[in-house]
Amino acid sequence: MNKPRLTYLLTAISAIFALSSCEKEYTNYSVSNATLQEYVDKFLEEAEARGVKSLNPYKTGLNMYFGDCHEGAAGVTYYENPIRIVIDEETWNKYTNYADGKSQNEHTVFHELAHGLMYKKHYNDTLPNGEWATMMAGDPIPSGFIPNTNFRGERRTYYLDQLFNSSGTKTPSWAKPVFDDPTEGLTKMVDDDFSAEFDSKHWTTGENSNFKATTNTGEFVFQNKSTNNYIVPLKNITASNSGDVYVEAVLKVEMSQSNRTFILEFGEEQDNGDNTTYTYHYASFHGIRLRIGNMRCYAPYGQATSPKNIFGNDYVKVAIRKKGDYMYYFIDDKCIYKDIIDTNIGGTSYGFIVYSGSTLHVKSYRIWNDGTVSQYRSSAERMPQIIDVEERETPNK
Ligand SMILES: [Zn+2]
Repeated sequence: MNKPRLTYLLTAISAIFALSSCEKEYTNYSVSNATLQEYVDKFLEEAEARGVKSLNPYKTGLNMYFGDCHEGAAGVTYYENPIRIVIDEETWNKYTNYADGKSQNEHTVFHELAHGLMYKKHYNDTLPNGEWATMMAGDPIPSGFIPNTNFRGERRTYYLDQLFNSSGTKTPSWAKPVFDDPTEGLTKMVDDDFSAEFDSKHWTTGENSNFKATTNTGEFVFQNKSTNNYIVPLKNITASNSGDVYVEAVLKVEMSQSNRTFILEFGEEQDNGDNTTYTYHYASFHGIRLRIGNMRCYAPYGQATSPKNIFGNDYVKVAIRKKGDYMYYFIDDKCIYKDIIDTNIGGTSYGFIVYSGSTLHVKSYRIWNDGTVSQYRSSAERMPQIIDVEERETPNK
């Protein structure tokens, strides 16, 4: 009875030896979670699809897990043996609740894997319109820029092409957008020129301790005297923005030195008692840098350089065109940013966000749309109101 037992034992021991020698090259590989593993698989697939077959973290080692990255970072790579990547769990979970969550979380993992598996360093060169030339933007971020990369649609394809084949990638067409006549095919619905003719029903005027709004100087002027940010909506607008639309305003902004932000918005609003909640697409100006996003996203995901400063002495025409699945942003009739829409926000809300201490001067305001008409609304519902602008910081990687 004893003898056969010993044989079984020896067989079992040799089987363990065989297994461990076989798997020795895998012992440095640990990805803590099936979701992260899916992104690793996807990264390797994207590499292989572009002819890069040399990446093998199972052999070279990788230790990746969710943890706590400090100082506002979404992910950190440590050059240890094996390479260690920490994905910030809090940031990841925050993003999953927003429309840009999937693309931003994917970008985070891919960016860290490019550090860890390809030894890519941060690279902050920009494309002709001022957005990142690679998906490896990072510290130190130049002043006025945000670390986020728009990682959706054709941009994602370009950034991956560039990552895996950096010498063979041409400047993408979306970085030199052209849109000759943004009003083509649309009907003019609002045509307010404060030096000539305008519909006073669109504009709330008056003064209280927080703001002063007038139209008697050949401009609409909104002076925000308060320490809050104000949304200044147009009212009684019939132009729906759920279809194709073009909106333009000739304006300039005077502001207190400390707060160089101004937002042109359009989207939808919901009444809830005393206040109205706004959900909008926005073009947000910080000096000559433009940040682009919408309220369904965690943070502004797009950016470009404006050819003109709306905080300067000159008036600037700022415009947004929505056409089919794309949005186009213009400064003085020059298209500077083209973006795919994956978040449709539709309504009849148009307006501005004027930051604390700033004064907005509008010379003219015009809207064209595809003819969709909605009902007039009561003017009382669209008074300027304090808005808690949640333009969140974008995380470093
Ligand atoms: Zn990085």
